[in-house]
Amino acid sequence: MPRQIVSPHEVDVESVGRRDYWVSLSHTSVWGSHLIPLTVIVGPQAKPGEGLVAFGANHGNEYEGPVAIKHLLREIKTQDVLGRIILVPVLNVAAFRVGERESTGDDGFNLNRVWVEGAGTTPELAGITHRIVEMVRSVIWPHVHISIDIHSGGEVARFAHWSGYFEHDDTQINERRQQMARWFGCGVVLATGASMPNGVSRGLYEEANDLGKYSIGTELGHGSSTDVRGVRYARQGILAAAIHHEQLSGNIEPIDHHADGTQSLVRGAASVAAPYPGHYEPLFDCGAVVSKGTTVGLLHDFYRLDEDPFEVVAGVDGIVISQAWGARVDQGQMILLVGKKAE
Ligand SMILES: [Zn+2]
Repeated sequence: MPRQIVSPHEVDVESVGRRDYWVSLSHTSVWGSHLIPLTVIVGPQAKPGEGLVAFGANHGNEYEGPVAIKHLLREIKTQDVLGRIILVPVLNVAAFRVGERESTGDDGFNLNRVWVEGAGTTPELAGITHRIVEMVRSVIWPHVHISIDIHSGGEVARFAHWSGYFEHDDTQINERRQQMARWFGCGVVLATGASMPNGVSRGLYEEANDLGKYSIGTELGHGSSTDVRGVRYARQGILAAAIHHEQLSGNIEPIDHHADGTQSLVRGAASVAAPYPGHYEPLFDCGAVVSKGTTVGLLHDFYRLDEDPFEVVAGVDGIVISQAWGARVDQGQMILLVGKKAE
């Protein structure tokens, strides 16, 4: 059956079977709609309130999620689905259309900063970006307990591939969360201490965690490209979570750093913000192991050509998780993140 165009309230995530939708959210300018692709597959053992959702393109210029999930749309067979699987290859269609991080060309917001109270339900917060938040809240959240949000660095940052989770006081829950992150196969598994406060700048990863879901976040590439390993990790992580949480039947084997035991668990990090605008020169690749005090990069000021560059120094012993991607950086931009190795 061809993909059906439906309003959010017409999406059926409960009946057994597969449905491919374009979820229609009206344009505020042209006469027409934004169409968000959403596929739901429900198996015979689906439990109320339980299921897995995977999102690509929360930011519009990050492509590993969209590509991996597009493949999974064909790979996952309806007869193998036991519980509930919801696949959203492109969540922020307004940003994806123009290939940018924010919904440029529409309301201009960053979808991963607008998970605030009243999004999409109040006149002041009624643009497409806020209404995507409301669509997820009303259509998806009530029916899933696992949320996987696939990101990469876009044009902002370069990353060591990582998958992460929020730590939980309950050891068993914590272990399950950590295992879900490990199964992606990335070199770095990032354990985050606490969800960010519920303020004016809040993301999907935090919201899913605040709702008590298994919330998994990733950074699987950078540079608005499609990263070879990033796509592989995204596919693996989504399938492993679905299989291990009884949403999908089948077997899966560990890959890459997970398989060979070279994953680093990272807990806590030190970042450096650019003290002035300039040009960033990395001296190490992301993933490098550095000591506290190591100069990881240099910030050059080409208007003070004859002065020494600013040394961008690791604040902790650990692994270089992220650095600026483009050479030109703004004042205040995070240009280095070094994670503390917990093991
Ligand atoms: Zn992102």
